[in-house]
Amino acid sequence: MATLDKNSLWESVLAELQISLSGANFQTWFKGKTQMLSANNGTVEIGCASAYNKVWIEERYLGKIKEIIDRLTNSSNTLVFTITPQNLLKPPARKRNQENPTVPLFEEAASPSIKEALETANLNQRYSFSNFIVGGSNQLAYAVAKAVVEEPFEQYNPLLIYGGVGVGKTHLLQATAQAVFLRRAQTRLLYCSSETFTNDMVEAIQKRQTFDFRAKYRNVDFLLVDDVQFIAGRESTQEEFFHTFNDLYSRGKQIILSCDRRPEELANLQERIKNRFIGGMVAKIDPPDLELREAILLAKIKNARLEIDFPIIRCLAESLGPSIRELEGALLRIAAVSNLTGKRIDLPLVKTTVELERKKGSPKTVVLEAAASFFSLTPADLKSQQRSKEYVLPRQIAMYLLRHEARLAFKEIADYFGGKDHTTVIYSVNKVEKLVEKGGEAATIVEEIRRKAFTS
Ligand code: ADP
Ligand code: MG
Repeated sequence: MATLDKNSLWESVLAELQISLSGANFQTWFKGKTQMLSANNGTVEIGCASAYNKVWIEERYLGKIKEIIDRLTNSSNTLVFTITPQNLLKPPARKRNQENPTVPLFEEAASPSIKEALETANLNQRYSFSNFIVGGSNQLAYAVAKAVVEEPFEQYNPLLIYGGVGVGKTHLLQATAQAVFLRRAQTRLLYCSSETFTNDMVEAIQKRQTFDFRAKYRNVDFLLVDDVQFIAGRESTQEEFFHTFNDLYSRGKQIILSCDRRPEELANLQERIKNRFIGGMVAKIDPPDLELREAILLAKIKNARLEIDFPIIRCLAESLGPSIRELEGALLRIAAVSNLTGKRIDLPLVKTTVELERKKGSPKTVVLEAAASFFSLTPADLKSQQRSKEYVLPRQIAMYLLRHEARLAFKEIADYFGGKDHTTVIYSVNKVEKLVEKGGEAATIVEEIRRKAFTS
């Protein structure tokens, strides 16, 4: 261990880790949580704040840490991780970089002018890069989003990020916008959902203010449009969007989009728009795997200053997902119940919450199961093409509840029931509405199924 003492060696290791890990990963696992205890004769002892911290680092970062230490010491070392109570760990002595205040881009709290810029741009400060946890499923999208902040306009333009519900598309888009503002608070940037775009356009046409509308969407250097799938099937929106896109693109402005699936899979989307969407960089976010779900939960638990034992965290991560929103929902509920009752967060409490959350998570399954079991049928029976009487009413009731309680679109219900025509769904919903209005036996049945599906 020639030149570096153990403290400076660890500082150097941390500095390298900070560059290669996301801000949140670094903060959660390393910053103020680890220390080099000794470095003698090729054995390096690293103290970790908790058992869980130790296991996590050993399982995931041992190789990386060893590689850095070996390189810095120019020798091969054996790493030993031990648990060191938190109070023994000194916070890392970080010098603030006075000369270049823009350096710690993603960790600093936003200054008032940036705060204002964020609010005006309709951005939620909570969605930042520093609390976006990176794992295998989202690392490409994360890396590309950060690259766009560093070098916008050319390399990844347009950037399209796609993935299912709750995987972090909105978070990543907004984090990108936020980072752009952190660089330069005066940036002309607009973030909106494609629904806002549509509504603004319709309103502008009604009020004869299309000039203002165009000024709003075209006088920007960055346009971020979330959930572009909603413009599918809307001809005039697609038309306007196409021109907005072309106008910005031809002037070298940065466009960032999100979509809930591959644009190629969107029915009712004009080919020319599909081609625009996928003409730059396309990055997919996959559903988070168990490891990432755990990491996200841990970060949120830490943030909310909750005390939850690891087996419970694992149980939550195993039972919930893939939507990260579902994980957050469960955590929120657990925290609320524990707060209200003053009870510790234990396994039974978590299990009940998970059950509730699951039900909430998928109204389609819940409704289908409740309707089927009421009539002693199976969900598959209801989704089948069988037209005999015993299937028809139960199926219609399920459609009615999906419309009224879960507020699904007719089209979505039609797809769920094996690609039926959406007018069949409209007919079914109307029919059950009438039965419910009449208030006879059918109304009681509907109420019973509704209760079964939506209360626990
Ligand atoms: P989507 O837009 O893909 O439906 P969101 O971006 O709204 O998903 O994410 C749902 C919730 O999960 C948000 O509260 C978001 O902050 C959180 N979330 C998603 N991905 C991550 C991540 N990688 N790290 C931390 N939180 C995340
Ligand atoms: Mg979203």
